[in-house]
This record gives sequence, structure tokens and C-alpha cells, in this order.
Amino acid sequence: MSDPAHKIIIITAPSGSGKTSITRYLMQKFRELSFSVSATTRQPRPKEQHGVDYYYLSTEEFKSQIESQDFIEYEMVYEDVYYGTLKSEMNRIWNNDQIPVLDIDVKGAENVMRLYPGKTLSLFIEPPSLEELEQRLMKRGTETPESLKKRISKASMEMKEKENFDTIIVNDDLQQACEKAEYMVGLFLNKPNENR
Ligand code: 5GP
Repeated sequence: MSDPAHKIIIITAPSGSGKTSITRYLMQKFRELSFSVSATTRQPRPKEQHGVDYYYLSTEEFKSQIESQDFIEYEMVYEDVYYGTLKSEMNRIWNNDQIPVLDIDVKGAENVMRLYPGKTLSLFIEPPSLEELEQRLMKRGTETPESLKKRISKASMEMKEKENFDTIIVNDDLQQACEKAEYMVGLFLNKPNENR
């Protein structure tokens, strides 16, 4: 499926680390980047749009796409909630001569790195602390007490994997974190592809 020139940028982080803000910043800075819209079975949050933030699917639809091998990777990120990167989305972006930016969980990120050796830049966005992360998620107001607990427990496991990624960016100051990400992406885009 992938041409040797195809590159991928992966941004991974525990939920609530500020990864979405950093991703948006990068999309504005580099016109050659295109956000890879994942599929999910979770409900849309207020203001989220189908086809922009995610493709919102029923569990049956998602499972049928798994059967059809439509995903390059998928995970049950939370109990009974699936997320996955669609092959069609990656190909759409590559066919436009752009570079997909994947905002995916740690396991998904590790799988994509394994699938595309030498093609990926992976950034791990680290929150200053788990306490701070909990505060941010509470302020965002999108979680129930139960889903908040699940996100914090998953975050604490994900933090243990951070050394597996190319760069760790601690998000204690959003502007500085954005600039560091911009610097790393700039280097990656100028870098000749390893298998070319
Ligand atoms: P949220 O529900 O907050 O939008 O996302 C929850 C988690 O799922 C985040 O860590 C996000 O990066 C991850 N995620 C989003 N899309 C995908 C995907 O396609 N694959 C995987 N493995 N994780 C994803």
C-alpha cells in the first residue's frame, strides 16, 4: 500500500495532555500536513463533527470494517470503545502528496511505528503530572466521573511507554511545547526518506 516516499507523523499522549492543541498548531504551520480522521464508536462531543473530528460508527459498522481489513490499526482504547486508523484515509492524504498526522493512543502509535519503519516521526506529549492531567480533564467537562477514572488509569500506564517514541515533549507551557513540536516536524520534513 505505501510508496517508499510516504511519511507519517504520529502524535501520542495520554488523553488531556494538550495533544489536540499541539496538533492544530502544527497543521497551521505546515501546509503539507493533513489530519488523519480516525473512526470511533464513541459518541460525538458537543461541537465535534462527523468526518472532521472522527468518523462516528456504530459498533456493528466498526466490526464490519475490521472484517473487511479497512484499518491499518485499531484498538479498543477504552472498554467497549473502538478507535482505528483507516487505510482509505491514509491513501487519500498520500494521494494528495500530503503527510498524514495521526493523533492516536500509545499502543496504536507503537503498531504504526512497527508497520512503517523509517517512515515515522513520533512525538509523545507528556502532561506535567497526573494531578495536572486530572485537573485538565475535569475542566474540559467532557467526562463522567467513571470515564475520568478510566482515562487517568490509562494515562498512568501510557506514561511508562514514553521512552519508545522519538521525542518527548512536556506540555507545561503550551507555546513552548508547540514550538518544540514545530522544530521536530521541520527537521523530519526536510529529512530525505530512509528507503528512497
Ligand atoms: P478521545 O476520545 O479523547 O478523542 O480519544 C481517546 C484516545 O483515543 C486518544 O488517546 C486518541 O489519541 C486515541 N485515538 C484516536 N484515534 C485513534 C485511532 O485511530 N487509533 C488509536 N489506536 N487510537 C486513537
